[in-house]
Amino acid sequence: MDLELKDKVILISGGAVGIGAAISEACAREGAIPVMVNRDSAAASGFAEKLRGEGFRSELLTVDLQTPDDCRLAVEDTLRLHGRIDGLVNNAGANDSIGLEHGDPERFLRSLKGNLWHYYSLCHYALPALKQSCGAVVNISSKTAVTGQGNTSGYAAAKGAQLALTREWAVELLPYGIRVNAVVPAEVMTPLYRRWLSGYPDAEEKLKKITERIPLGQRMTEAGEIANTVVFLLSPRAGHTTGQHLYVDGGYVHLDRAL
Ligand code: NAP
Repeated sequence: MDLELKDKVILISGGAVGIGAAISEACAREGAIPVMVNRDSAAASGFAEKLRGEGFRSELLTVDLQTPDDCRLAVEDTLRLHGRIDGLVNNAGANDSIGLEHGDPERFLRSLKGNLWHYYSLCHYALPALKQSCGAVVNISSKTAVTGQGNTSGYAAAKGAQLALTREWAVELLPYGIRVNAVVPAEVMTPLYRRWLSGYPDAEEKLKKITERIPLGQRMTEAGEIANTVVFLLSPRAGHTTGQHLYVDGGYVHLDRAL
């Protein structure tokens, strides 16, 4: 199936590491131009080099998405370099363990800023370009938005808000034909996941317990499986799909894990 993404410019926050990198690679393989917005890191520049080495067109913008101005600059740089934005993937985030009992209001707010503020700001500043291209938005949320996880109030609140904003923006942007959807992963092995797992003294045992309970195949979701759903949602092939929350999780959230 031709996804008709050739030459489309796709802005992807956190697009050079983990799930974001898989999305960027999937976009590049479809002939699109991923513009990856990442903090400065060897992993991010290494991935950008790998894409270039394989002959794919792509861009790495080194930005720490802390404030609305950072987001505005990322959008402006994308437009300066490529003149258009056809898709936005809000993906950057971190499960930062700011709990209720062991957190505090200031760190809770910082977590919301780190996980949610840039989802709104990037979409806000990209909107004029998305209106021109009749583009699409995909928000990467998390199962914690609907299952909870414990000791991660800020992250869970941000992830829940991303699902609410997906519906809200899908409605607001109907007149422009801009589709907005969310993809909801559960367990995907990435640098973020490895960091979270390493917080457990019995990390291997913990991982075994988690994967044993994933209904489809008792395995983690591959980052590429998330990416395949995202590129489909970005493409005109998903032309009548909007306001949806797609759970790419091997049945983790909705199937009975006692089976
Ligand atoms: P990851 O391995 O940490 O990759 C995310 C990338 O985004 C990292 O390069 C990170 O930079 C970057 N980033 C984070 N905040 C940023 C900011 N403010 N400005 C610029 N770059 C920023 O994470 P991942 O596991 O791929 O997660 C991607 C998305 O999937 C997140 O929204 C996460 O909540 C969601 N998710 C993941 C899982 C999972 O199992 N992995 C499950 C559910 C949901 P640094 O390397 O500098 O931190």
